[in-house]
Amino acid sequence: MDSLYIHIPFCNRICAYCDFNKFLIKNQPVDEYVDMLIKELSFLEDKNLKTIYVGGGTPTALNMNQLEKLLKYIKENFNVSDEYTFEANPDELTTEKISLLKDYGVNRVSLGVQTFNNKLLEVLGRTHNFDDIYTSINHMEKIGLDNYSIDLMYNLPGEEMSDIEDSLKNIQILKPKHISWYSLIIEKHTIFYNKIKSGQLNIASSEVEGERYHRVMQGLKDIGYHQYEISNFSSKPEFESSHNKTYWKNNEYYGAGAGSHGYVNGQRYFNVKPVPHYINRMKEDTNAVKDIHTLSKKEMYEEEMFLNLRLNKGLRINQFKEKYGVSLFDIYQNVIDKHVTSNNLEIRNGYLRLTEQGKVVGNDVFIDFLID
Ligand code: SF4
Repeated sequence: MDSLYIHIPFCNRICAYCDFNKFLIKNQPVDEYVDMLIKELSFLEDKNLKTIYVGGGTPTALNMNQLEKLLKYIKENFNVSDEYTFEANPDELTTEKISLLKDYGVNRVSLGVQTFNNKLLEVLGRTHNFDDIYTSINHMEKIGLDNYSIDLMYNLPGEEMSDIEDSLKNIQILKPKHISWYSLIIEKHTIFYNKIKSGQLNIASSEVEGERYHRVMQGLKDIGYHQYEISNFSSKPEFESSHNKTYWKNNEYYGAGAGSHGYVNGQRYFNVKPVPHYINRMKEDTNAVKDIHTLSKKEMYEEEMFLNLRLNKGLRINQFKEKYGVSLFDIYQNVIDKHVTSNNLEIRNGYLRLTEQGKVVGNDVFIDFLID
């Protein structure tokens, strides 16, 4: 096993677009949650890993004692040979917390910036502002935890192209090692979804979304960032996220914490979501798995395509045969021909990959890889 994802499902405020498994931290049994999370981690078989990613929710919403307890357990019980990331919100990343993360071996921070525009941050329901972004980054640099990624979103309600230009300018000043820049997806059961349904909020058309995506890709390229995935960019190849590449390469990983997912021995598993259920389950058991899904061959093929095609490099054609004992072209010849002809896919150096045009219409391409 190469990778472990750990979920901290608490936030200080709930953002208007968020459909993750998260709960307002106030009055939550956070100490108990951390204890049960540690119990779940203790039962994982393989403790020698390449990557750990602690996400949420907001891991930095934990107080110093809770954070230290978790960090200490991980340090004393796991070997992480490559990348150890914590997600953080800019306004919660105090110097004390940064030092604590660094002291316990965290070597990468994924900072939830979203946008540099204070008005848009307010619309999103974020707790931080522009100044918090710069302050937290200055602190990280001073303390020496300077391998950070910034998470951004485009296609926000009320966003103009000038906001993307503004983000690009800030990126030029800050020079983060890594950038994730996703299009906002409106998910059901979110405040944004209800507002759009009732006409209180507008979201741009898919044409405008495509233009913005083009600008994000071109703008980052112009200032020296290399795109290695549909929405991910790094200043140098060594700063690509090893942990996230585990997912995109369709490799297996552990998931721990309420609502987390894992992929072990060809089975995808899902933990119970609500915090009290998770705690009660973990009090009596060695895991909190709610469902296990054994992938059929068809599902394995489909996932191999969707995930690997997200990478700029694409899917190594021989890898498909090595993994599944059948040629990619025996399964997908027609789909590949169709999208190569329409210039959404190309075959180069033994890899099948999306073209620049294909990245913009990626979902339409992926749908065709579903097997009837
Ligand atoms: S901080 Fe992150 S996890 Fe929490 S509500 Fe906002 S987007 Fe969701």
